[in-house]
Amino acid sequence: MHKIDFDLVEMTMDVMKYTIDRISHTKQKVGKPQKAVVLKELVGETITKEGIGGEKAFKLWKKHLAKANVPVDHPRNLAFVPAAPTRAAVMFDLVTSVSSIHGAYWMEGAGGIFCENEAMKWMVSLTGMTEGAFGVFTSGGTAANLSAIVTARERWREDDTYKREKGLIITSIGAHSSVKAMAKVADVDILLVDSEEELKGEDLRNTIENLTFHQRKRLFAVVATGGTTNAGIIDDLDGIAEVCEKEKLWFHVDAAYGGGALIADSVRHLFNGIERADSITIDPHKWMFSPYDCGAVIYKNPDYAKNAHSQEGSYLDIFKDEGAHGFNPADYQIQLTRRVRGLPLWFSLATHGTDRYKASVERGIELAQIAGKIIEENPNVELVREPSLSCVLYRRIGWQPEDYTHWTYENHNKGFALVTPTKWKNGDMFETVSRFCFINPDTTEEDIRLIIESMA
Ligand SMILES: *Cc1c(COP(=O)(O)O)cnc(C)c1O
Repeated sequence: MHKIDFDLVEMTMDVMKYTIDRISHTKQKVGKPQKAVVLKELVGETITKEGIGGEKAFKLWKKHLAKANVPVDHPRNLAFVPAAPTRAAVMFDLVTSVSSIHGAYWMEGAGGIFCENEAMKWMVSLTGMTEGAFGVFTSGGTAANLSAIVTARERWREDDTYKREKGLIITSIGAHSSVKAMAKVADVDILLVDSEEELKGEDLRNTIENLTFHQRKRLFAVVATGGTTNAGIIDDLDGIAEVCEKEKLWFHVDAAYGGGALIADSVRHLFNGIERADSITIDPHKWMFSPYDCGAVIYKNPDYAKNAHSQEGSYLDIFKDEGAHGFNPADYQIQLTRRVRGLPLWFSLATHGTDRYKASVERGIELAQIAGKIIEENPNVELVREPSLSCVLYRRIGWQPEDYTHWTYENHNKGFALVTPTKWKNGDMFETVSRFCFINPDTTEEDIRLIIESMA
């Protein structure tokens, strides 16, 4: 199976044909999942002693399995945080795979890591962080948040006073679920400020003042959100930075979703203060149009990350030698062997230039504003709050939670759209509402109108 023969050539052609077809298609289906037993019935036994052959396996993929996925780049997929990787980035993902690059150490992956670093320099420049700040691409926001918080905790524990303390971090209920998951992995406690609206410096100060003596001792970091996943809300980053500096706390900004909007002039001011962060998470696979998976973590002082993450092992010593000098991504996050997952972003940025990125992100923000207007003009629906970044929360007047669920499934089953409900905290109550998140610049005003009208 490592030989080059006629079957290989044929399989390669088939894959290229499929790729060209997929990439030039603008009207792909919304797609929907199937139960595993149904899929099994459709495709039968695929892993056998002799193999079923590439042709058959690929046929099964095209005929049954591909259709059981919901493409994230469909213009009427407005659920969760969808995606719209550029075609240049997707094509270079193929190049990344075919090049077989080990992206952990400069010694093996210098060319690929160089490209990643060029893209990273641009990302760092968007944050306005000081000279010396730098970052690394991760598998996603969860891995980036975890890498950052482990870095913060290790830095904190350098002081013997805290060696045996279980850490505590503060964030708000608007923070992404992965922050809680990450705290569990890092075995730190988490204190949630009970507001889904923007977390202000003042709220943080009050929360800290109300901590017990021991809690205050255990507190080492604050996680602010630069664009909540649910509603696109950006915390008061300047105010929070102020408190963190005064209290000597690590200031992490989770901008996994919102980070792409740092390039958008219309909203950049909302992120003021992000440059004061100790670490920032940005997911290029969300609003920087990279294919999955591509997250990133940026550190004000990357040496702290190196102290926390650099792996020791006799078989790894060679990488520390003179001949291997250069940037080693493995030293700055939790993963060792890694693909150079920033490479597709680099190629797309180099191809299109950063102005096109700006325009595409601005379009997402504009679509949210357009959706807001359409909602205001339709008597059946109303905004829950003003659109923020590219998120729109709205209610269908008179609907119960099960109506939203039913509507979602109906639209999905028809292959028309994927728009999922969410919950919004209203006083002490969680209300079920509908939500759009725009990423794909190819979503049209007509798409939005049709979706709203389907709620009649
Ligand atoms: C999506 C998201 C995450 C998680 O990122 P993954 O790439 O899914 O691991 C974390 N934080 C925020 C704010 C997000 O929007």
